[in-house]
Amino acid sequence: MDSAQTSLDRLGAWLTATPDEVLADAARDGELLVARVRTWLTLLLTLIPLLSLAMEPDQMQHYVGLAVALIAVFAAIVLERRITNNPYRPGMAFVSAITDVSIVSLGLFSFWLISQPIVTTNSRVLFDAYFLAIGASALRYDPRVTVAAGLVAIGEYVTLVVITWYTHRGAALLVASAEYGQFSASSQMARVIMLLASVVVSLAIVNRTQRLRRMSTGDRLTGLFNRAYAEEYLTTELFRSQRADSRFVVAMLDVDHFKRFNDTYGHAAGDKALQGVAEVLRATVRRTDIVARYGGEEILMIFPGTDIASGMEKVDEIRVRVGLNDITLPRGGTARVTVSIGVAAWPADALTVPALLDIADARLYDAKRAGRNRVIGPGATHGGAKADVVYG
Ligand code: GH3
Ligand code: MG
Ligand code: MG
Repeated sequence: MDSAQTSLDRLGAWLTATPDEVLADAARDGELLVARVRTWLTLLLTLIPLLSLAMEPDQMQHYVGLAVALIAVFAAIVLERRITNNPYRPGMAFVSAITDVSIVSLGLFSFWLISQPIVTTNSRVLFDAYFLAIGASALRYDPRVTVAAGLVAIGEYVTLVVITWYTHRGAALLVASAEYGQFSASSQMARVIMLLASVVVSLAIVNRTQRLRRMSTGDRLTGLFNRAYAEEYLTTELFRSQRADSRFVVAMLDVDHFKRFNDTYGHAAGDKALQGVAEVLRATVRRTDIVARYGGEEILMIFPGTDIASGMEKVDEIRVRVGLNDITLPRGGTARVTVSIGVAAWPADALTVPALLDIADARLYDAKRAGRNRVIGPGATHGGAKADVVYG
């Protein structure tokens, strides 16, 4: 019973957690993709009432169909423009995913309006569009969005069916239509169950994607990001900063005399020391900062939207905190490590990712040569000459 409770708790926590930075990036791409598909799909679907109107211009129902299609096209274009022109926020995913299922509900409702209630309750093609909308919600990699889309779809559909049944429970729903069959409670129940099943499958896809993404971007020992991810992120960050006229700081950290630490306390203790350093870094940086294991005992930190002065302050705080952190040794007792850090700023120090990393690396080695346990970054300009500031 207890383990069932913890599983439920864990499921609840997963369903309500805000997505991490890595997936927020992927979600932005997913949102854009869905926006483009939505625009093209609604434009293509407009052809159906247009064609019908060309053949039967006196049929009122085709005008209603055209009106619904145009509303969908309008919503699609507005959403695509907002998503293309604005920085991505998870709120957008909720709005667009709920809009998608609501467009389907509106389409079903239009048949109720033109007194074809059997299409509202028994339509196949339009009803299947709910599955498309719920499935596409998985591209936002946020379980909350999928749950919201699924619940809204089921809520709207059940409401439509109840209204239709209530208003047309006489002849219109009970006389079998050649194309759509007859209204039956059991087939309506089956439809709702299928919607629920599609929510569960979409949630499983989100969960799998999250796990795969975490595995491919993370480092096993420290739980930090890995080098590949840090480099991918840096390239994106550079473009983002260019567009937003912003700046960022990178810092390369290396544990001092780590070979000696390993030789003295053993490799397992060295691993624990790296985990301890990672823990301090994670606890000290902001949620939007990136900390990645770059090599064996080298760690790269990226501070978006940060100027060099606050970057240096942050990095020196990290150096001090790491130096005060007690590492519990596997064979008992505690030990401490110190770190040296080289800092470089974009765009002041260099304009490309490799050049920026080279400068941070060179300053790291300057810090080593100057005696370790210190931070070296670009100094303020004094009397025209650029002086390096040394902390520690
Ligand atoms: P410096 O202060 O100049 O950086 O000296 P150092 O001894 O730290 O530098 P060096 O590059 O010579 O040694 C790095 C050591 O880090 C050697 C390697 O065994 C150790 N190391 C790298 N990755 C790991 C790891 O994952 N676990 C452990 N325990 N040790 C590691
Ligand atoms: Mg070292
Ligand atoms: Mg090293």
